[in-house]
Amino acid sequence: MAFDIDMIKKVYSQMAERVDKAREIVGKPLTLSEKILYSHLWDGKPSEAFERGKDYVEFSPDRIACQDATAQMALLQFMQAGKDKVAVPTTVHCDHLIQAKQGAEKDLISANKSSHEVFDFLESVSNKYGIGFWKPGAGIIHQVVLENYAFPGGMMIGTDSHTVNAGGLGMVAIGVGGADAVDVMAGMPWELKFPKLIGVKLTGELSGWTASKDVILKVAGILTVKGGTGAIVEYFGPGAKNLSCTGKGTICNMGAEIGATTSTFGYDDSMERFLRATEREDIADEANKVREHLTGDDEVYANPEQYFDEVIEIDLSELRPHLNGPFTPDLATPVGELGEKAKKNDWPIKVDWGLIGSCTNSSYEDLTRAASIAQQAIDKKLKPKSDFGINPGSEQIRFTAERDGLLNVFEDLGATVFTNACGPCIGQWDRSDRKGEEKNTIVHSFNRNFSKRADGNPNTHAFVGSPEMVAAIAISGRLDFDPMNDTLVNEDGQEVKLDEPRGIELPPEGFEVEENGYVEPMKDGSGVEIKVAKDSERLQLLTPFEPIQDSEMQGMKLLIKAFGKCTTDHISMAGPWLRYRGHLDNISNNCLIGAINAYNKKTNFVKNQIDGEYGGVPDVQREYKAKGIKTIVVGDHNYGEGSSREHAAMEPRFLGVAAVLVKSFARIHETNLKKQGMLGLTFANEADYDLIQEDDTFNFIDIVDFAPNKPLTIEIVHKDGSKDTIKANHTYNDAQISWYREGSALNLIKKQNA
Ligand code: SF4
Repeated sequence: MAFDIDMIKKVYSQMAERVDKAREIVGKPLTLSEKILYSHLWDGKPSEAFERGKDYVEFSPDRIACQDATAQMALLQFMQAGKDKVAVPTTVHCDHLIQAKQGAEKDLISANKSSHEVFDFLESVSNKYGIGFWKPGAGIIHQVVLENYAFPGGMMIGTDSHTVNAGGLGMVAIGVGGADAVDVMAGMPWELKFPKLIGVKLTGELSGWTASKDVILKVAGILTVKGGTGAIVEYFGPGAKNLSCTGKGTICNMGAEIGATTSTFGYDDSMERFLRATEREDIADEANKVREHLTGDDEVYANPEQYFDEVIEIDLSELRPHLNGPFTPDLATPVGELGEKAKKNDWPIKVDWGLIGSCTNSSYEDLTRAASIAQQAIDKKLKPKSDFGINPGSEQIRFTAERDGLLNVFEDLGATVFTNACGPCIGQWDRSDRKGEEKNTIVHSFNRNFSKRADGNPNTHAFVGSPEMVAAIAISGRLDFDPMNDTLVNEDGQEVKLDEPRGIELPPEGFEVEENGYVEPMKDGSGVEIKVAKDSERLQLLTPFEPIQDSEMQGMKLLIKAFGKCTTDHISMAGPWLRYRGHLDNISNNCLIGAINAYNKKTNFVKNQIDGEYGGVPDVQREYKAKGIKTIVVGDHNYGEGSSREHAAMEPRFLGVAAVLVKSFARIHETNLKKQGMLGLTFANEADYDLIQEDDTFNFIDIVDFAPNKPLTIEIVHKDGSKDTIKANHTYNDAQISWYREGSALNLIKKQNA
């Protein structure tokens, strides 16, 4: 069913030789990240040292994982590649399309009704092309991967930003757009700019209320949402060894929130314990044989400043529990200081919901620690002041937690146990208590808390904390509650204090599951027919993009100059739009509707230069498209941060946007733009952003000479006839320029397969 031990043995059998060779070539001891990267080169044995943050390198990942929302477009693209089977072990996980409303049983029935067409499509494509399929309700992609597929020293890619979760089991696991996954499924190399390396040295030991989650909440506060961009964060030191494997997973999971390429930890006893507990004894045995290659060299960890590009040190014994938010995961505040901050900023103190679980925090340890707090509420006669919602990460963890009485504890407090799926973490939450856009506060143990992320309400202030802290805050119903110092009044009018949480790392009686929800594909899927109804509003077969002609890059119009944060949620919203992830035309109606127009500070309200009228971004863009006018999108820093969804690139491309010009990009989105055959450019001079005016026309005067390491020149013609000429940088190499010239990376694959 699950992992392929022969594949893992092969990876390990090559590792010693490749690591030794890499050490010789690089000329110094190696970090774990380098060992994994150099032992997964597409060309096999390393033959040159790569410059971090500069060289593009081709890799050969061991696995691919796709979630249902992104898998639709990825598989629609793969179907165009002309292959019989995927070249690399791949799994599809149905987790994003299940709305949380009434609880697991009813919600799953409802999702199977409303999205059956999509689930059927994914199952049949999986069956045809040799892809493992995890049914709706089986669990959230990253938890299922950690429990079944992740292995120390491996490399995987996944069509979801939180693929990085598998770093908790010592992998280099990276979130990519569907187009990258399609390359690898089709047997092509996967390209990545060789990452920089940030070392995080952990000393001391967690105690009391402080959890693994607080490590990453602290790191996010230090590095901010941009601080990890282009880098692998490698954790090491005595403190790292003291963390559980799943706790490491939580830390790596939220590496996505600092923009890191991925995060990882060296193989240690906690990983071995987790592998054995999840019935992967043979992987543990194999990993033990190559233990020294599955962690960084001793010298690297002894003198990290010499080997990492940046080093951070955190003493776990001194670390305090944090709550990060609202609206951004890097706004870190130690619990106890939040009340004052909330008052100052007018954030609602009353907490409406406490949500526990998601792919970030639904391990056995998490649930036991949170349940130990919930149990105290029962024992000490405390009635929770907030509602509780639980999203188990997998059926295996749900079944085990139910067997061990953990879920009962929450249910006794009135908690709703939602499906083993993303639910409120991705806006799939039909929240019954608030229908309008009232200001309110929730706390959760998820990872992201951007505006509208949980419930679509821009005024929901979401704070991220550990599951046990979420439980305590939800019981108190107050954001300013500090369980380490404050007391609560119980039903008898007595003042009571919550004791420190207590957790169990792994289930003493082992994990258990009756029906894990996995469907093995047929050995020969050639007879499987894939049906997509012509009138389907959810799925649409793709038509290849036409290459953008140099002549079209003259006389371009400005579609929108985005102001401030513009994440992939702003470019291609989630929530109700998840419905159209497999239908490019329909989902393009959400294109950039969340981006703020720099000229009027409104969303989805831009000037149509054809008639001077204002309208919604997709509507205006469709008018340009009808007239054959290409457009440009202008943006600020870290444009496209957040989810890896390639829809955020495909939609503008489909509607006729030819270039995106920004101060800086989030890595995955920049690559996605390249894959779809359009231009992703950065201002050579950031201040040129201010030159762009609402009625501007753009001429790419040297596009005919588009070449690596050569900035492009753009002439901006303003309404009054005056002109500015600016330089735009790009990171396209020769291969990526071929994608642009062919219309998309997929067009090139098809051409090469023909
Ligand atoms: Fe699902 Fe949230 Fe995890 Fe993404 S971060 S996979 S939406 S639970």
